This record gives sequence, structure tokens and C-alpha cells, in this order.
Amino acid sequence: MTHPPGPGPATGPTTVPTPAIAGTPTTTWRNWGRTERAEGITVVRPRDLEELAALLGDGTGRPVRPLASGHSFSGIGTPEDIALDLTAFSGLSGPDDVAVDASRGRVRLGAATPLWQIPRLLAPFGLAMRNLGDIDRQTIAGALATGTHGTGAAFGGLPTQLVGATLVSGDGQVLTVDEDTEPELLPFIRVGLGALGVLTEVTLQCVPAFVLRAEEAMRSLADVDAGWDALFDEPDHAEFHWFPGSGRVVTKTNTRLPGDSLLVPRSRLGRWVGEELLANTVFGGLCEVSRHVPWTVPTINRIATAAMGRGTFTEPSARVFAAPRRVRFREMEYAVPRAAMQEAFGRIRRLADAWPEPIEFPVEVRVAAADDVALSPGSGQDIGYIAVHRHVRRPHERYFAAAERIFADYGGRPHWGKVHGLDADRLGALYPRFGEALAVRDRLDPERRFANPYLRRVLGP
Ligand SMILES: Cc1cc2nc3c(=O)[nH]c(=O)nc-3n(C[C@H](O)[C@H](O)[C@H](O)COP(=O)(O)OP(=O)(O)OC[C@H]3O[C@@H](n4cnc5c(N)ncnc54)[C@H](O)[C@@H]3O)c2cc1C
Repeated sequence: MTHPPGPGPATGPTTVPTPAIAGTPTTTWRNWGRTERAEGITVVRPRDLEELAALLGDGTGRPVRPLASGHSFSGIGTPEDIALDLTAFSGLSGPDDVAVDASRGRVRLGAATPLWQIPRLLAPFGLAMRNLGDIDRQTIAGALATGTHGTGAAFGGLPTQLVGATLVSGDGQVLTVDEDTEPELLPFIRVGLGALGVLTEVTLQCVPAFVLRAEEAMRSLADVDAGWDALFDEPDHAEFHWFPGSGRVVTKTNTRLPGDSLLVPRSRLGRWVGEELLANTVFGGLCEVSRHVPWTVPTINRIATAAMGRGTFTEPSARVFAAPRRVRFREMEYAVPRAAMQEAFGRIRRLADAWPEPIEFPVEVRVAAADDVALSPGSGQDIGYIAVHRHVRRPHERYFAAAERIFADYGGRPHWGKVHGLDADRLGALYPRFGEALAVRDRLDPERRFANPYLRRVLGP
């Protein structure tokens, strides 16, 4: 394991480096979406696998939570006692010839590597991640733990790219899991909710570097409704954002092209105006204004639509998939069976349009292919993802609860890292392999050192 210096968590505690496991400082932690907070936690920064295994094998039973970038809106990452700062486990895992199997396109990375660093690490080997979500601030372990996904009818979420991992169980055992060693654990480790062990190293199945031709367009809702299946099935990657109260939709479709294709990038100025000035600075300012002057919401929607409709350009894949999101918000996202997604969206649309106050953030719709990952929302079924948002300073509770009742009618499965109210009983009925996942948890964390209030709710005590 190499230990290049990495940035601390993008949000969260002001982590104080700790030279040893004992005698650590206490501090306060908050997540990006400001839905979760923890006081008086002890941040520990293990320097290597041995220190981590010693900590978990110390027999004290003290609750331990791996910290990542704090970008989950749910309480999944909220520490109660010991919080692990894993920044030492970052970057390529070892020298190039150990970390990279170029012939198979496989790369071993420290589990705390931030997604934004990965394109740079893969570039010398002509490799890229197959698919990504719409930001890159998360760590790879945090993204895997919650089933983070992008869009694409033929593509699963990020966990489907995991082919091997090293983790430390709740009692300090170091486990290697891959297709040859304990392969039966892979479907559970891929989306482990941080409940099965601390990942220290992950092996990703990558693909040859590719570029994306992105087309971002403003369309009418009626147009999107009429061409729903074509929108999601024809391009490699498709999504749309709809602004409540308007008939406008911004569609984003990406076509995969070979890595040596001619690039037609946005100008630096155009990229800055679209991604930073309009989508973040102006949009954020207007969201603040709309708190006091609700009638400005349609203006906000127009600005946001203009910022998101970036035209057509061709750039390296990671630059197209991810964009900066600096305006803080709260989010609930559910996966519903693909066949039910258009109807479910129609009901969410009516809910948002009829909401007593204007909704300033869009509804986002994406798709993903079925996978065989036990606790992935796409487990065993093609899915459509529908996400509702509100600005961080606007009340989200009643709106999200009303949306959740609609998702429930379609057997919706919540994103583990976003706001939802389901418990183990409900989730057990939604996931055929839920019982098996609980059995793996019993094996890997019998004393529940990784439990926190969220995990007790969604997995049981
Ligand atoms: C602005 C924004 C945009 C987003 N966009 C998307 C999107 O496009 N698609 C999508 O699916 N989601 C999206 N999300 C949600 C986000 O991807 C997930 O919540 C993700 O888990 C956050 O990663 P993180 O590194 O911040 O993890 P955290 O939220 O910090 O942690 C998540 C879980 O991982 C555990 N964990 C961390 N490190 C380890 C480890 N080494 N071993 C075991 N467990 C570990 C934590 O303890 C916690 O349980 C977005 C969130 C935000 C705030």
C-alpha cells in the first residue's frame, strides 16, 4: 500500500492527525447535506492495515465508523464513538506492476481514494471507470457502500465494477475477497453499507479509456413523455431534470466513443459559466433569495435550465459524467422497476406541481441495468431512479414523505445514502437476499462494532 498524501474528507470533522490509536482528540462531524451531526467523537487515523486490525481486534466493543467524504444524506455514515480517518488508504495500492493488471483492465486502489483522483491514476494505463455518478467528491469505498450509481440502461451502479477487496472485519480479521477467494462474499461486499467491515483496498474492473459525446438539451415535458423509452434506451447514458411548475426538461445524453476520437471540448470560459457561475454561484444565490421571495422560483428554474443545457461537446468520460455541485441540498432517491418508472414519475410530477409552495430544485430521472449485488437497488431488476431535492434551507420533510408514499406503491428501493424512512422489516420484503446479507453481517461483525442508529434501523439490531 502506498500512502500518498490525500485531501481530508471534503466535509466532516476537522480531522486531527493522530500519531497513535490511543489518546485521540474529540471533535464534531457534520455531513455535506447538513442532515446529520455527531458531537464528541474520537477520530482515529490508522497508518496501515496492521494498526487498523489492531484497533478492531482490541476487544473493547466500542462502536467504530469509517469516515469518507460525508456526502450521504442519510445517517449511514454518522459516527457515534470512534470515527476512522482512512486517508492513509488512498491512491494506487503498491507499485504499478502490482496495482495494475493492464491485460485484464484491473486496478487495485486504496479504499479511501477520492473518485476525482481516479481518472488521473488510471490515465497512464489507458484505463477508465466504466460509469460514474454526477459528482466525484466521494471516496470509492463510500460510493460502493451506498450503491452509488450513474445512469445507462445497460450499466449497473459503481458496485458492479468491484471485483475484489481487502477488508477488516469487526473483530480485526483481515479478509481478501475476490473471484477466487471467498467469492460468495462478493455480492455482499459490493454494497456493504459499511456494516460488514472496513474496506482498505478495492480492485476495480476498468475499461479502455473512452470519450463521451454529450448532448444537453432543453425539451418540453410532453416531448419527453412521448419518447420515454427511446430517450433511455437509445443513448448509452441518459437522464433528465424536470423543474416543478414548468413544462421544461433538460435531457442529458452521452454516447461512448473510442478514446482516440476527436475531442470537441467546451471552452474554459463556457465550462466555467455553465458549471460554476450559473449552476452554482447564481443558482445558489437565487435559492437564498427564493426563501424570502417565493415568486422568484420560476426565474431560478430558467437559470438552472440554461446552466444545465450545455449544448454538445466531446470530452474524456470522467469530465462529462461529473460536475461540481456546490449549492447544498437534501435528496431522496428511489429505484422503481423500470416498467413502472414513467407512471411513478407522472405521480411525482403531479405531487410537486401541486405542492403548496414552489419547489426550487428539480426532479432527476435516471436508469440502471439489473445486477446481482444483494443489497443493490438494481438487484435482479432493471430500474429507473427518481430523485426529489430541496435546497438545504427549505423544509424537505413533508415533501419527501409524500414522495416516499408514491415510491412505496411501486415497491421502490431507497438509495442507502439518501433520505428515506424505511426499516429492516420493510427492506427485508423488498430484497430477496436480505436474510443472507444479515447472515454475512453476523459472521463479519458479530459484536456490531460497525452499528450506528441508521444501521440498526435498516438492518435491525
Ligand atoms: C452533491 C451530491 C451528489 C451526489 N450524486 C450522486 C449520484 O450521482 N449518484 C448516486 O448514486 N449518489 C449520489 N450522491 C450520494 C453519494 O454518492 C453517496 O451517499 C456516497 O456514499 C457518498 O460517498 P462518501 O465518500 O461521501 O461516503 P460517506 O457518505 O462518507 O459514507 C458512506 C458509507 O460508507 C462507509 N464507508 C466509508 N469508507 C468505508 C470503508 N473504507 N469501508 C467500509 N465502509 C466505508 C461509511 O461509514 C458510510 O457507512 C450524491 C451526494 C451528494 C451530496
